[in-house]
Formats: sequence, structure tokens, C-alpha cells
Amino acid sequence: MQELNKSFKFLGILGGGQLGQFFTMAAQKMGHAVVVFDPDKKSPAGKLADKHICRSYDDLEALDELKKICNLVTTEFENIPAETLRYLEKDVIVRPKAKAVSIAQNRIKEKSFLKQSGIPIGRHAVIDNFKSIKLLNDEVDMFPAILKTAQFGYDGKGQTHVNDVKELERAFVRFKKVPCILEEKLDLDLEFSIVMARSINGDYLEYPLIENQHEAGILDLSIIPARIPSIIKKEATKLAKKIASDLNYIGVMAVEFFISNNHLYVNEIAPRPHNSGHFSIDACVYNQFDQQVLTLAGSRPKDEETKFPVSVMLNLLGDLWFRKGEKKSEPNFEMIKSSEIKIHLYGKYEPRIGRKMGHITILGLEKQSIDDVIRKAESIRKTIWEN
Ligand code: ADP
Ligand code: MG
Repeated sequence: MQELNKSFKFLGILGGGQLGQFFTMAAQKMGHAVVVFDPDKKSPAGKLADKHICRSYDDLEALDELKKICNLVTTEFENIPAETLRYLEKDVIVRPKAKAVSIAQNRIKEKSFLKQSGIPIGRHAVIDNFKSIKLLNDEVDMFPAILKTAQFGYDGKGQTHVNDVKELERAFVRFKKVPCILEEKLDLDLEFSIVMARSINGDYLEYPLIENQHEAGILDLSIIPARIPSIIKKEATKLAKKIASDLNYIGVMAVEFFISNNHLYVNEIAPRPHNSGHFSIDACVYNQFDQQVLTLAGSRPKDEETKFPVSVMLNLLGDLWFRKGEKKSEPNFEMIKSSEIKIHLYGKYEPRIGRKMGHITILGLEKQSIDDVIRKAESIRKTIWEN
């Protein structure tokens, strides 16, 4: 390997999961070298990167080492401590900035930012002590509701459904009384997301809107393009751009939306590429990770060119490894192999229930409708589970 020095166009990324792994591939393809910072020595991106700094996010000595290697740093998941980003920001360029990430990683800050920006959000309340629960009684009825920890939740973790004040109190104690957000449980007609990139000059690039279906709070299936009226698509795109602009955002960002009783709401912001954007790896000329590399390096995002206008993505969770009961057994993908079916496995050593192990993108061929591709995805799912 080359001598590590800044002239070798090193890019740094905090977090070494599958999003970091795809970022690393995109960066290397463009001639960059990548240093991954992740405390897990078996992290998918760490294994692939030119250098892996395997230390904790608050290890200042290790962060100094990162600063010595590269000038440009990004993140692959929102739970990187904001202080870490602020520390790096003193000496190197961090995109997106610590300020934007610190808002997106804290549901209380995120809700108040969205409200201030005039973005439609569902009814909610901050729950940070018992008094805030008592005060709820004076408000309009919030139940049934979802209690979410303000920080460190992902894939439905750090969330629980509550039906009344008693259940809320119990859940708050179970969450060790950390600051939380209580959200009214909305009747969802549909969920969708927008994945977009924004450059240092404020140029935008957005992918087609993505319809998302969740199982137990975890993304299960994405349909591209989302089956929603174009007027809602336009409105949502306008809102996502406003969010990015108000955050002074540089990089790739996803906004998750709900449609409930024909009303549009923003659910949350992800300050990074998004699981629902994985279709772009196989369906587009430039995928969301290419855009992350480009915007990090100060370039314009490339125009989105879709090779396959219709596609469906299926997540592969660890559950699949335990489909035959207690005993772990590798799924067999041989039976579904075909040129329009793209299988991605992240190389995680340990399958666990609910853990994202990989995904499959089913590309719609000419003359295939969205319904055809969804049916194909469902039949692929059945074949994998039964073999
Ligand atoms: P995560 O950070 O785990 O993605 P989210 O807040 O996006 O957390 O919640 C995960 C999923 O739970 C959502 O995609 C949606 O399906 C469901 N959900 C979350 N909040 C609400 C709500 N207020 N009303 C109805 N469903 C919700
Ligand atoms: Mg979410």
C-alpha cells in the first residue's frame, strides 16, 4: 500500500457499516483512498478500506490520527457523537457539518428545527421528566402514541407503543428516563422517502421518490418510483429542499415522509445515504454513494440517470438465517439468480434477528409494470424463505 499521506486523496468516513462499505467502493472506484473510523474490528467497511482506525469515537488521539491522514471527512450513520464531529471540524472539512448532524441525530432538536422551518410534522410532545407526562393530561388526547428516545434509536429500536398515561410512565422508566419524544400514532396511508444530494454551491440532485414498507419498524421493501400523485411528489421535493437549505446541508440526505388521511408529514431526516436509496446502486448510472463522494470532495452531484425506471428493493434481515428454527442456516440464493436480480451481502459475520445482512434489487425490465416487479419480488422472497 502507498505511504499514507494527504496527497493521496484520502477520504475519511466515520462508521463502518454497509453504508460505509458502499461509500468506500464508490470512493475507490473514483480513485480515492478511504480511511474508515469504526470501533468494530469486523466492520464491513473497515475490511474494505485502505486504512481502518479501529478506536472509539471519543478517542482524541485516534481522531488526531484521522486528521493527519485526510482533509475531508463524512459520516455513515447519525449516531456519531456530535462532539466528535465538532472536534474534527476544528482542523478538517466535515460534510455534512456537525450542526446539521446534531439536529438530525436528536429527535427533540429535529422536531423543533422542522417546526421552525414550517415543515408539516405530526403532533408530538417532549417527555423528559414525570412533570412533562403530567402536563400531557391538559393537552388534546395523544393516544395511541409512540414513545421514542431522542437519541441513538435506529431500525425501530428505542421506540415503544403506548396507549395511555400509565403505559407511558412505565415505558419512560424502561427507557431509563432519558429525554424522549412522544408522537401521536398516525394512521399511515403510505410511507415514502426522498434521497437527495446538495453541493457546496447549493446544487441539488434528487432521485425518484421511493415508496417504503416497514415490518416491525424496519424497512422491508422499497418501490421505485413511489405510487403517489405528482402534486404530492412536487410538494415533498420542495419540503426536502427547504430542509436541506435551512440546514446548510452539504452531502447526501434522506427525508422520510408519511401520508396519513391524505395529509403529508415529515417523519425524520437521515443525514447520510439511506437504505431506501440502495436501488440506485443497480438502477442508476450514479448511485447515492457516488453522490456522497462527489459532494464531500466539493464537486457537483452528477445528474441522476436512471437505467431502470422501475425497481423494487428487498432487505435481507438476519431472520432469514434462522428460518429453519433455532439453528443458523445460510440462505440459498442460487435459485433466484438472474441478470435482473442483484444480490448484495454485506459480509457481516453474525446474523441476528432484525440485523440488516444484505439486500436484493429487482430491476424492472422493459414493458414490466410496477405491479409485475412487486409480484416478482414477493415470489423471490417466498423462494428464499422456503429453501
Ligand atoms: P427509525 O429511526 O428507527 O427509522 P422512525 O421514527 O422512522 O425510526 O420509525 C420507524 C417506523 O415506525 C416508521 O418508518 C413507521 O413505519 C413507524 N412509525 C414511526 N413513527 C410513527 C408515527 N408517529 N405514526 C405511525 N407510525 C410511525
Ligand atoms: Mg426512520
